Amino acid sequence: MTCGADMASSSTTHDTDTALVRLRGISKRYRSGRREFLALDDVSLDIETGEWVAIVGPSGSGKSTLLNILAGIDSADSGVVEIGGRSLTGLSEDQLAAWRGRFVGIVFQYFQLMPTLTVVENVMLPMDLTGVDANRLDRAKTLLDRVGIGDLATNLPSELSGGEQQRAAIARALANEPDLLLADEPTGNLDSATGERIVDLLAEVWRQGATIVMVTHDHDVANHATRIVRMRDGRIVDDAQVITAGREA
Ligand code: ADP
Repeated sequence: MTCGADMASSSTTHDTDTALVRLRGISKRYRSGRREFLALDDVSLDIETGEWVAIVGPSGSGKSTLLNILAGIDSADSGVVEIGGRSLTGLSEDQLAAWRGRFVGIVFQYFQLMPTLTVVENVMLPMDLTGVDANRLDRAKTLLDRVGIGDLATNLPSELSGGEQQRAAIARALANEPDLLLADEPTGNLDSATGERIVDLLAEVWRQGATIVMVTHDHDVANHATRIVRMRDGRIVDDAQVITAGREA
């Protein structure tokens, strides 16, 4: 089967039993006063472990709404959301928060680093919330080394550049070894050289085994993914595999 509606170029075959992400018939309507807006219109999508998916499309096409639903931050009006074989429907806010902390790493613009905590404390925070006990400090420092800012561990976020803050956000998102890394415009607000370095970092994280779903408006960034899902008016209008160098053996 294929993912989404109006397929133009996908020939992907998925085993629905093993898909890491399984969305079926997702709709989401926002109401603002008497006006209604259908942000997602019957979206179905499977994402396998190990994919790097770029979600692209014009502003207002539903990309962030889709990502928020994958993160359990927003809920669908109808349809099935399963991640790692678990349905998110009917979970309480507390259950969702616990699930998110364990299984999802989030790099969203509005999901900022805590300004009063040092960088390493920020990276340790998700470990604290989910009860990972041993060697938190060592693990956090290792993650910061991995994203190239180990020397900034004891600085406050405000002392870091935009690119360094994004690296710290990625380290924090990886703190609990999430099944799924979600990134909304990970290179947004960064100059192109810094943005490229962030993409290189995501590529490294992906090669090391992460499954990534990212929203981007930048074609060059999208082309690093293994698959590009294009949205328009709340629907998936194209879903294509990208020829890439692939994961290192
Ligand atoms: P994209 O990420 O593709 O720019 P979004 O998913 O952010 O699109 O938004 C899709 C549509 O849903 C937009 O028209 C937006 O105005 C509307 N929308 C998104 N979030 C909300 C909200 N919390 N309340 C009302 N409308 C919303």
